[in-house]
Amino acid sequence: MITIGVPAESPEEPRIGLSPETAKKLVKLGAKVLIRSDAGLRSHFSDEDYRSAGAEIVAADADAVKPADIVLTVRRPSLAQVQAMKPGAILIAMLDPYSDADGLQALAKTGASLFAMELMPRISRAQSMDVLSSQANLAGYKAVVDAAALFERALPMMMTAAGTVPAARVFVMGVGVAGLQAIATARRLGAIVTATDVRPAVKEQVASLGAKFIAVEDEEFKQAETAAGYAKEMSDEYKKKQAALVAEHVKTQDIVITTALIPGRPAPKLISKAMIESMRPGSIIVDLAVERGGNAELSKAGEVVEHNGVRIMGRLNLPGAIPVNASSLYARNLLAFVEPMIDKKTGELAINWDDELVKGTVIAKDNAIVNAMIAERTGRAAPSPIAVPEANTNNGDETQSKKNGAAKRPEPKGGKT
Ligand code: NAD
Repeated sequence: MITIGVPAESPEEPRIGLSPETAKKLVKLGAKVLIRSDAGLRSHFSDEDYRSAGAEIVAADADAVKPADIVLTVRRPSLAQVQAMKPGAILIAMLDPYSDADGLQALAKTGASLFAMELMPRISRAQSMDVLSSQANLAGYKAVVDAAALFERALPMMMTAAGTVPAARVFVMGVGVAGLQAIATARRLGAIVTATDVRPAVKEQVASLGAKFIAVEDEEFKQAETAAGYAKEMSDEYKKKQAALVAEHVKTQDIVITTALIPGRPAPKLISKAMIESMRPGSIIVDLAVERGGNAELSKAGEVVEHNGVRIMGRLNLPGAIPVNASSLYARNLLAFVEPMIDKKTGELAINWDDELVKGTVIAKDNAIVNAMIAERTGRAAPSPIAVPEANTNNGDETQSKKNGAAKRPEPKGGKT
């Protein structure tokens, strides 16, 4: 019988990698599921919920980790926790594989097999395991809701006997998973929405959500999407044209949500200080790319910066601000990945190391880093600029941005052992 262990996350992380729903399914698959007492509380999953699902509640993290064949976490756990794992056991988490190379190397040396969910290949078969999408979608939603809460005016147009309240104008920059949900949410709230991206493929998606697409649509724009479906770093000439267009547009906007990311690169700077100064007091910018350096010039990770009456929100871990949904979806992502690892007949751990999804996500095995790009990084003493292969680079959600976020990102804290 396979044992799955879930320790508590660090105090900074409200999400958890096991929901009562996924616990029940894992138990049904024949697994013994151990979860640290109160580990799901911040997602409003009580010990009783887990117990009813068939899981066993344990008093300490070590009790969940030591006997486990598979340990499930949200963030990279502490070295002590990984050291406590039994030989050959596997850890599946959002391991933030491109930051704190030394820390990762130390985890690899423990002999545990480490899987980074952020590296899941973005192929149809793996859609149900795509943690970047599941979390980015929620981040996009939360960005708009947070902006609406801070905005001191209404979003929808209201025609009242006392006069008309105009609809707010929302501009979404970067239309990946987070951006699409931001557009949809802002539309539902009745805002007039415009959006921009450098990838032509999103033009139709923007229109289908009832928003207007604006972009510099030159020859370079037509080539901006990579084979993997991501954006390329644009030329200086394009950036200039884009900045001119954005400068004109931003002046008239009430809320700007920025989500623009380029795999393996710092976030592109799209909103300059001058642009912020051109906005009306009371306007809001939510910078979802803040953990990768930010799309707005004045944004600061974890802070709301006010400049000339414009507030720029750089809140971290937006999916963690809606932990019930974020944990439920993340736990389902993990379940979908773990299920094929359990032998249906014997109920034992049976990993197919040749599987594309396993090969894509495993970063350490048998005391060594096995992912070439990460191995190269762990050879360096200090955190260095991100360098990742396009096809296998997943970043995007705010969750992920923090994952690939390199030096700027706060280091994950260890869980309680
Ligand atoms: P992302 O987080 O890497 O980037 C967010 C958006 O920012 C992207 O749309 C990107 O084009 C845009 N951007 C980059 N530079 C910009 C700039 N200078 N100006 C304006 N916008 C800029 O993206 P993501 O959310 O991870 O999604 C990337 C792609 O992957 C999308 O096409 C998405 O549909 C696709 N995807 C595929 C799968 C799958 O097949 N399983 C799953 C999820 C996403």
